[in-house]
Amino acid sequence: MKSINHHLTDQLLMGYSAGSLPEAFNLVVATHVSLCDECRARMHEFDAVGGVLMDEAGIEAVSDDCLAATMALIAAAPVEVKPAPAPAVSSIFPAPLQDYVGGDLDAVEWRRIGGGVSQAILQTSDEATVRLLRIPAGVAVPDHGHGGMELTLVLQGAFRDETDRFGPGDIEVANEEMVHQPVAEAGLDCICLSATDAPLRFSGILPRMAQRVFGI
Ligand code: ZN
Ligand code: ZN
Repeated sequence: MKSINHHLTDQLLMGYSAGSLPEAFNLVVATHVSLCDECRARMHEFDAVGGVLMDEAGIEAVSDDCLAATMALIAAAPVEVKPAPAPAVSSIFPAPLQDYVGGDLDAVEWRRIGGGVSQAILQTSDEATVRLLRIPAGVAVPDHGHGGMELTLVLQGAFRDETDRFGPGDIEVANEEMVHQPVAEAGLDCICLSATDAPLRFSGILPRMAQRVFGI
């Protein structure tokens, strides 16, 4: 997908490659990587480093020299990455997400969580939660902080917050220090895939009450 402006961090790509992320985050990473040639290439590099380190060192500690040599090897011989297959015209969900939902957008069972916003929580392991969010065009999500990390991938439409604009394929990485109020752009409803490893911290009393009821 062209015109992706916001990407995964190396830390997340490495975590995915090493298999150390919670399942909910893995799904968001895999879905972004399926859309983004740049992150897919970077991911292959980390996979290659992991493979070489395992071959050469087994479970022994790896020397800096070995790591430097490995990185030089990678720089010298970039992995050729095939472009992602073009998705069918009607599909909004990339393949990794379709596997979780059991279909495309029409297979989602939405629950309203107030303010016109709907969500569908996907089944994953307990360490973190991943949900689809549908924010009507022009509508704001209540401003909130984060108890941990929040990864948000835009699938349709776009939103803006205090930091920037996020369109299809873009990913926003929010952490404890960040408070923001995402607002869906006019036009299309904004559909996002969002993973969190701790509850959000809402500023307003109504969102806090909704949080208790809906577990967002
Ligand atoms: Zn990317
Ligand atoms: Zn947030």
